[in-house]
Amino acid sequence: MSFDQLETELAERRAAHLYRRRRLLESPQGPEIVVDGVRGLAFCSNDYLGLANHPALKQALIDGAERFGVGGGASHLVMGHSSAHHQLEEALAEWTGRPRALLFSTGYMANMGAINALIDKRDAVFQDRLNHASLLDGGLLSGARFQRYLHNDVTSLEQRLARTDARRKLVVTDGVFSMDGDIADLPALSAVTRQAGGWLMVDDAHGFGCLGPQGGGCVEHFGLGIDEVPVLVGTLGKAFGTAGAFVAGSEALIETLIQHARSYIYTTSMPPAVAWATLSSLKLVRDESWRRDKLNTLIALFRQGASALGFELMDSPTPIQPILIGEASEALRISQALEDEGIFIGAIRPPTVPAGSSRLRVTFSASHSEEHVLRLLDALERVGRPRA
Ligand SMILES: *Cc1c(COP(=O)(O)O)cnc(C)c1O
Repeated sequence: MSFDQLETELAERRAAHLYRRRRLLESPQGPEIVVDGVRGLAFCSNDYLGLANHPALKQALIDGAERFGVGGGASHLVMGHSSAHHQLEEALAEWTGRPRALLFSTGYMANMGAINALIDKRDAVFQDRLNHASLLDGGLLSGARFQRYLHNDVTSLEQRLARTDARRKLVVTDGVFSMDGDIADLPALSAVTRQAGGWLMVDDAHGFGCLGPQGGGCVEHFGLGIDEVPVLVGTLGKAFGTAGAFVAGSEALIETLIQHARSYIYTTSMPPAVAWATLSSLKLVRDESWRRDKLNTLIALFRQGASALGFELMDSPTPIQPILIGEASEALRISQALEDEGIFIGAIRPPTVPAGSSRLRVTFSASHSEEHVLRLLDALERVGRPRA
């Protein structure tokens, strides 16, 4: 068999401006990065608090390697659950105000594992249509009846919940939507879910660190406890600046995941030094609220400036500030023109976002300065034609 078919498909993808390619990052994350040998200003990472290259975290990673070595060596259930992992789980449980937390190696695995440990073909799963791919994939794999409701639309969810007689009803949503930056209406989603006897699962990959006085994310922002959000997922590769993820919840939830989450059971534990470094990261996330204040200042400056230039922004109070462009080819053109000006911003295209809603996904970090934002606005004015 030849790969001609694959080559044809790839060529079609290229022609449709949907081809994805990897860039070579030659520096740490930060406001200025080096990509394919070129230095520029970056607005495209999820390192929202500027911790990925923080000296205290680097030192903690080194200390962790000295204490625990490099590899996890085995899965958690065999002999890979180190005291570094355990301490981090306890610290995350305390910080989120939940009885227990469980570490996973990635957010993708946390979502796949948690959903599949909780539901099967006797059940129903309800997902916001803009949920992250890992949540959608987890729901599809579970074999549960799969329904998408309109984006952040409580009535749409309520109607679907009313029509099911499934054993379990799991409602799943991003806390902060990764490509739009808006915040899920968790108080209302929680109310209708509880009314229907379901469970609400919130993946707050982009809210943790950014929202709430102590960076506790959407649930802290809205003041929601374990009764309102019984399954809470956070990732550590974004605002925390390290890697991995966690699920926080009740004793029964966490024990169920340990028994049944296949992406927890059948994989090597994350390097314990990463867990060790994340303990330091958690302190910075919690205590250095100036990073959140700084972000809010930068976000306000950007929104005001970009609106004044006529760009179409989305309803986002978070560091994810997409500029809606429309056609994939135009999003790519502006992204390339910005790069020629020394500014890196990713063009997000279908299938990551719906057709016709290609966008520049601008993200801010506490390590940006106001001057960086002004440089971005200046370049946008020169190269980015606003939507008519
Ligand atoms: C990034 C992301 C994930 C995946 O987390 P990783 O640790 O990068 O695998 C899951 N959910 C959402 C909403 C995300 O944005």
